[in-house]
Amino acid sequence: MIPTRQEFLHIGPEGKVAFYLITFLSLAYMGWVFYRKSRFWMKGQPITWTPDYWKGIITYVLAQRKVAGSRPKSGAPMHLLIFYGFLAMFVATTLLAFASYGPIVGLPNFHRGTYYLVYETVFDLLGLLFIFGIVWAAGRRFLLIRRFGYPSPDQEGKLSRNRHNAITHERMDSVALFVLFMLGVTGYLLSAARISNNPQPWDWASVVAYPLAQFAPGLSNQAYVGIWWFHMIWVWGFFIMLPHMRLKHIVVATLTAAGAPEQKMGELQPISLEEVEKTGKIGVAEARDYSRWHLMSLDACMSCGRCTEVCPAYGVGKTLNPKQVVQDIHRAMVVDDSVPARISEEALWACTTCNACVEACPVLIRHVDLIVDARRNLVAEGKLSGTGAVMLRQVASTSNAWGAPANSREDWMKGLAVPLCREGGDFEYLFWVGCAGATDPGAVKTTKAVASLLKQAGVSFACLGKEEACTGDPARRMGDEFTFQDKAQANISVFQKYGVKKVVTACPHCLNTLQNEYGQFGSQMEVWHHTQLLGQLVSEGRLQPASPQPGKVTYHDPCYLARVNNISDAPRSLVGQESNHDSDKSLLAKSLTDPTPIEIFAEPQHKATKTLCCGAGGGRMWMEETPDQRPGNRRAEELLATGAKEVAVACPFCRIMLDASLKQVTQEEIRIVDLAEMLQEANKSK
Ligand code: SF4
Ligand code: SF4
Repeated sequence: MIPTRQEFLHIGPEGKVAFYLITFLSLAYMGWVFYRKSRFWMKGQPITWTPDYWKGIITYVLAQRKVAGSRPKSGAPMHLLIFYGFLAMFVATTLLAFASYGPIVGLPNFHRGTYYLVYETVFDLLGLLFIFGIVWAAGRRFLLIRRFGYPSPDQEGKLSRNRHNAITHERMDSVALFVLFMLGVTGYLLSAARISNNPQPWDWASVVAYPLAQFAPGLSNQAYVGIWWFHMIWVWGFFIMLPHMRLKHIVVATLTAAGAPEQKMGELQPISLEEVEKTGKIGVAEARDYSRWHLMSLDACMSCGRCTEVCPAYGVGKTLNPKQVVQDIHRAMVVDDSVPARISEEALWACTTCNACVEACPVLIRHVDLIVDARRNLVAEGKLSGTGAVMLRQVASTSNAWGAPANSREDWMKGLAVPLCREGGDFEYLFWVGCAGATDPGAVKTTKAVASLLKQAGVSFACLGKEEACTGDPARRMGDEFTFQDKAQANISVFQKYGVKKVVTACPHCLNTLQNEYGQFGSQMEVWHHTQLLGQLVSEGRLQPASPQPGKVTYHDPCYLARVNNISDAPRSLVGQESNHDSDKSLLAKSLTDPTPIEIFAEPQHKATKTLCCGAGGGRMWMEETPDQRPGNRRAEELLATGAKEVAVACPFCRIMLDASLKQVTQEEIRIVDLAEMLQEANKSK
């Protein structure tokens, strides 16, 4: 006898007809609900990119890249168990369908022999992952509900500002978990019932169902058929309920991953004058002005609250709540409403574009795109006033966010013999100083330190001086796209004039714009952060590392360096600290070989890609803040909690914000210093 199993055991012709009919109807219903959802997505603008479908599916669905690194930590393994268990069940059912219906088109039924034995063993075991994951999820949810309860109706959508925003509890979530649990358990029950009712010599291959069957041997045909229908009720229930619960992300998040743009985290998409002429609009006024992909991604939202939990603006009590932004735009999409009617301008302006929400979101929603697109329309409608509007005018008129004249960009160079591009000498690196680096007194210290270290190490470099203009970063993030494009084009023509191939800068915001956004206008350059280049010079022995007393200095990772551009090893390497942060893929390997990595910095709670924003980005540095709603104060308190007496930074914006916040939250004398200055001190004393 060849090992196999009989499909539709004891199910008569009427039963088969009923099975096919109900299965068809439940699947058709599911498809119809998703089709109705897709009609809302299709109200949006056609996408302007060609998605790499397989890359998206492999990276974000099959490899679960976003989930694997998500917080809270207990959520990731739980989701991985459920996902891979579910995937195994899906693959098992698909193989079975191919084997069963293949003969209709002349294919062999391969569900027999050794293949069948392996199939039974492997999928019986993998199904356990699914059930363990569901039990884990239910337990976790039960404990959190016991502690915090369900939100009352008036709390729905208005999250309390505690860390358990990471899970929001809705009664339907418990229903979803129960349906999934029953799907898995009744699947095993059905296998056990088949073995009990119709034993075969190869049943041992069903390593979970076989032992279960021993509890009730000799099951009657009627009992087996009853269990068969009972299992099918859960399968059909799952199909019908799927599009109405958070479980719909199984479908929508997969589509979102497949269609995702090849867009870096810190990159914003340009708008063209042609588009503006065609639509008569700048940015997004109504939900339908977003792209179809952005609208579809809103439906993938699971209300998990991770974005809100990490939002620095929300954390200090501002009206901005990124989860609410997503849900409000979703509502605007469904009822054809304008975005400002649903989201207050105050909330839109509160965003620092730190991208913490984007990094935390497991389903690839790009909150910063959504917010900046809405800001673009507010700026075009003249709805920005105050210091933010002054900054935009300054960028446009003086090419300096502080409004300083072009000549003043060379003030810091006095007495330093800094080479200038216009002098005509060869250079390898363009040292891009930036508005802050040339204007702000604290940042000027960093600029001088970088120039002196580059000279000391014999690096061939030159500066643009008065030929340098603001990159346009604050204008773009505030929503003034065309001022940004103006500055980008002016700078790119200067780069072309001097044949610039490599750039080094001490400003992560400039780095992000030059590296990730100037390419949209034809620029091709290698862009280095100063900590990367200085780190390389240290590793080559051309500079000595800094050697602060371990534990006396803390380091603040800038959002646009660590999270957005994944640079958090290089700053630490300047003090000889080994990488020990979250984004380091070799962390496990390192911890196995060296369980005690060298720690020089007193590390704060949030670091590397999970760093906490100082509040400067997105043009916020130029906008008024209520003193008790400064994101920088929260970060300053966290840095102080490390016990360090000195704060090392690697961004001029962070330096300005943290300097002000430290003065506000403590009477203690805390020194704030850029890593370049720290390195310069070490190299002077040698
Ligand atoms: S980018 Fe930062 S400030 Fe803006 S919504 Fe996201 S987490 Fe909040
Ligand atoms: S937007 Fe993303 S992170 Fe925020 S609640 Fe929705 S799924 Fe969660």
